[in-house]
Amino acid sequence: MGSMKEIFNSLLLKELLKGLSVTGRHTFSRKITVQYPEEKTPQSYRFRGLHALRRYPNGEERCIACKLCEAVCPAMAITIESAQRDDGSRRTTRYDIDLNKCIFCGFCEEACPVDAIVETRVYEYHGESQADLYFTKPMLLANGDHYEAEIAADREQDSKYR
Ligand code: SF4
Ligand code: SF4
Repeated sequence: MGSMKEIFNSLLLKELLKGLSVTGRHTFSRKITVQYPEEKTPQSYRFRGLHALRRYPNGEERCIACKLCEAVCPAMAITIESAQRDDGSRRTTRYDIDLNKCIFCGFCEEACPVDAIVETRVYEYHGESQADLYFTKPMLLANGDHYEAEIAADREQDSKYR
């Protein structure tokens, strides 16, 4: 009896019509596919992307070589060496982040007492070898210089909710 019903339904093309009705419904509904890279989805100001080291407006680097970021990093992706300068302040002589290891948890920027190491909104970067994703201090400072306006605006917005 069950098979008779199936034959009858297939003669009426019931399943096909059901499928077409689903297609028809979606043809006229609002599209949610984003045509990347021409179109992009909205991004949070807390997005955790490419790292950067920031400077103060007078050009002095913020980082005071306290190594809290290095200590807190669960992936052990940060390597810092430091030395005392002639003026008595301590600064890093080496600040590397191995983005091959990084899991973008954001702990480094959370731990930093002077807002020096931050994660930018930048996610469109790649490396063709592991070495390409090894970021040194000059590279991180260059990121900070390049994206400072956006970083500062994001931090300002974030401070309203802290
Ligand atoms: S985002 Fe997380 S894993 Fe990456 S460097 Fe910072 S603390 Fe380490
Ligand atoms: S980036 Fe911040 S947490 Fe890391 S060593 Fe410099 S001051 Fe300390």
